[in-house]
Amino acid sequence: MSVEQYLIKVQPYYRSVGNEVELYEAAYSARMPVMLKGPTGCGKSRFVEYMAWKLKKPLITVACNEDMTASDLVGRFLLDASGTKWHDGPLTVAARSGAICYLDEIVEARQDTTVVIHPLTDHRRQLPLEKKGELVNAHADFQLVISYNPGYQSLMKDLKQSTKQRFGAIDFDYPNADVESEIVMHETKVDKATADKLVQIAHRARNLKGHGLDEGISTRLLAYAGALIANTQTATKQATANAETTLMLNPPVGD
Ligand code: ADP
Repeated sequence: MSVEQYLIKVQPYYRSVGNEVELYEAAYSARMPVMLKGPTGCGKSRFVEYMAWKLKKPLITVACNEDMTASDLVGRFLLDASGTKWHDGPLTVAARSGAICYLDEIVEARQDTTVVIHPLTDHRRQLPLEKKGELVNAHADFQLVISYNPGYQSLMKDLKQSTKQRFGAIDFDYPNADVESEIVMHETKVDKATADKLVQIAHRARNLKGHGLDEGISTRLLAYAGALIANTQTATKQATANAETTLMLNPPVGD
């Protein structure tokens, strides 16, 4: 499998909100594992895509879930016509080829799965493939990035301290109103008045967090709402234009 396919060729739109770009660059130059910490839909995944593009490194993203096993990350033997063959998992591909491996919502994975990343996150930078009997030394460009939403975790489902402390954390939150409005306009092409109104609603709803709402309205949801509004506006304009053309071609005949 060629790692070239994981290179991001077109610059992703990312509006920086603080010094996160500089922080990440510093972490990458030390090849420090990074934890992007913050609520869902606040731009963590977009940020890592942008950084991979900026650093010209391939990005391999794994959306973690509770059914995920260590083999889904590191690889497994599979049977084909010529017998059993080892297939590297996404983490192994990234470690061998020097990609950035982004484990999105790592806390969703079972704790016995997350420990496989430990030897990759300290000075060893190694990945043992126990079933294959191989020790992979990570490529010099390899970096591990995880996302973590602290508000979302229950006590039963949290990262172990021994895992958390292996990462340099960059804190994310929803951007301030002006920046968020700018993002919504860019993502959806709605006008400023509509974007401002959507952001205002989100800010009010976010104040209800912990008072009946588990999670506030995310920037992602605002982008979705904006896209629907923009499409409706286009459809309405189109319908109006169609009606006007029809009227021009067939003017109403008076009595
Ligand atoms: P997360 O990974 O934190 O759950 P995403 O990175 O998927 O969230 O962000 C969700 C959406 O919100 C993105 O697809 C993008 O439209 C928008 N977004 C949020 N923050 C930003 C930002 N700073 N710059 C550009 N787009 C953003």
